[in-house]
Amino acid sequence: MSEATKILVTGGAGYIGSHLVVALAEQGFDPVILDDFSNSRPQIRDRLQRILGRELQVVAGDVNDRHTLHALFAGSDFAAVAHLAGRKAVAESARQPLSYYRANVGGTLALCEAMAEFGVRHLLFSSSATVYGESAAMPLREDAPLRATNPYGRSKLMVEQMLADLAVAQRPADKLWRIAALRYFNPVGAHPSGEIGEDPLGEPENLAPYIAQVAVGRRQRLRVFGNQYPTADGTGVRDYIHVMDLVEGHVAALRYLLSEGGAGYFVWNLGTGCGASVLEVIAAFERASGRPVPYVIDAPRPGDVASCWADPRRAQRDLGWRARRTLDEMMRDVWRWQAAHPGGLGS
Ligand code: UDP
Repeated sequence: MSEATKILVTGGAGYIGSHLVVALAEQGFDPVILDDFSNSRPQIRDRLQRILGRELQVVAGDVNDRHTLHALFAGSDFAAVAHLAGRKAVAESARQPLSYYRANVGGTLALCEAMAEFGVRHLLFSSSATVYGESAAMPLREDAPLRATNPYGRSKLMVEQMLADLAVAQRPADKLWRIAALRYFNPVGAHPSGEIGEDPLGEPENLAPYIAQVAVGRRQRLRVFGNQYPTADGTGVRDYIHVMDLVEGHVAALRYLLSEGGAGYFVWNLGTGCGASVLEVIAAFERASGRPVPYVIDAPRPGDVASCWADPRRAQRDLGWRARRTLDEMMRDVWRWQAAHPGGLGS
């Protein structure tokens, strides 16, 4: 019997990483997690093993640590790496730029050096729609102008540029790098089992986990950041995508990289192509949960854009993938997870 294809998932204990591990395992790959647990919890391993009904290899370590990487690559034959480890809080990145560049840029550099040394040349990178400039017209195509407005976004953009350089710097004798940057829009929702979901440490920055924590009484009320934007109801519009659709997009991209082909650097938006306002998200959550979500209108959050949604056609065309789940399904799954585990993974 042939062994399943091993995929290293950095950040595999986190929100998106843990869902990606499930999708990979369910599609016949053998995911191995590397995570430093700086923004995730060790309990995730039991939850994942319960969903998958089998043991998982989980390595606690930092992607910036050469010794950890060497031991990992020397011990396993990885066909590819999905690199999701990184820091992601926009406001924090403005306060601690060096630690963001160290983690996100330095971490990717260390990872790529180790991959080069061990001959692993297939890489999925977790990028973000924040790399698009503010003035770009909606929907955002991959060739829209790029201009991030905070250190977090710039760290993603720098990594994209570094990876693009790497993919074209081939010497004929080299094995070929095939690299994909996946630009996430707004991932929400949870695995339908309710066993795993988004579990931010501390106060949530993002809308869906905040709403869910209000609904279970962990927070008093939501603050809606601005209601005077040039949108239909005045609140910010985003392209929310179910995390299961998002990770299925990763698996499609991985299959594309692993299929025959020359060197390449690919960029794909992972979004639905539809925008929803903050008030629409609240209403969908209330429908799904049957609970009211008290909110107040507050000042706009600095740096927020009015609207942001994807043109997802390139991924449809190249990968045969598209997001299928509705906003109501996203909120239903957020609620199933939060209601079963009001305190998150620790509960
Ligand atoms: N938002 C809000 N209250 C919150 C968190 C977010 O009104 O407590 C709004 C935010 O202004 C934006 C939308 O919800 O319009 C999505 O914000 P999130 O931080 O989840 O994603 P991002 O801004 O990174 O797209």
